Amino acid sequence: MSESEILYYPENEYQKEFDATVIKSNKDENYVVLDRTLFYKEGGGQPADKGNLFWNDHETHVADVQKEHGEIRHYVDGSVPEEGVEVHGQINWERRYSHMRMHTAQHVVSMVVLDMYDASTAGNQVHEDRSRIDFEPADFDEEDLEAIEKEVNRIIDEDISLDKSEMDRDVLEEKTEEGRTNLDLIPSHIDPLRAVKIGDIDICPCGGTHVDSTGELEEFNIEERKSKGQDVERIIFSLK
Ligand SMILES: [Zn+2]
Repeated sequence: MSESEILYYPENEYQKEFDATVIKSNKDENYVVLDRTLFYKEGGGQPADKGNLFWNDHETHVADVQKEHGEIRHYVDGSVPEEGVEVHGQINWERRYSHMRMHTAQHVVSMVVLDMYDASTAGNQVHEDRSRIDFEPADFDEEDLEAIEKEVNRIIDEDISLDKSEMDRDVLEEKTEEGRTNLDLIPSHIDPLRAVKIGDIDICPCGGTHVDSTGELEEFNIEERKSKGQDVERIIFSLK
């Protein structure tokens, strides 16, 4: 197992390029492990970053990033740099920034719906263009959707700052509202946890990447509502 320093934690999410050394190179499975990385590994409903690695006269495309067997593997499309090589990494910023905006929007919507309808977030998946959240128990009508949209856009217009920091697990568990997130899904040995705070209106543990202020979301629109079985409602949304 080769450990990597995660460069975007706890709140360095706007850096787009970095230098690192290859500490493991696997040519059969086309991946490298780096001593440090800015690439987000798929997890928590947020897709992996994509981008490029450059070294000497070479360049290769990072197509996927996964945490497997305790190490962060960068799967590449092209040639695989050798162990010991120093690489320059560049993440696809347009894709990452869309995920950051969408992930922060997901937190705002989850918080708003818990407050207004006492419905918990049962699942979520962020994409670049449209994202989804499943709520339970929930049964929204048109008026509810309008009310959710209005409240989320009010929070966006207030341009509230986010704060991301490490926090002792028991302190963060205490601060996280009942039903806001499923703390049991986070392995119990992880302590401290990273806390994502939106002003003083929301706090929860999260390993994803986020914007610095709700104003960056610009405008929130609910695109679709779907019933996903008894008591579960899916909201599909986009950002302007
Ligand atoms: Zn999150």
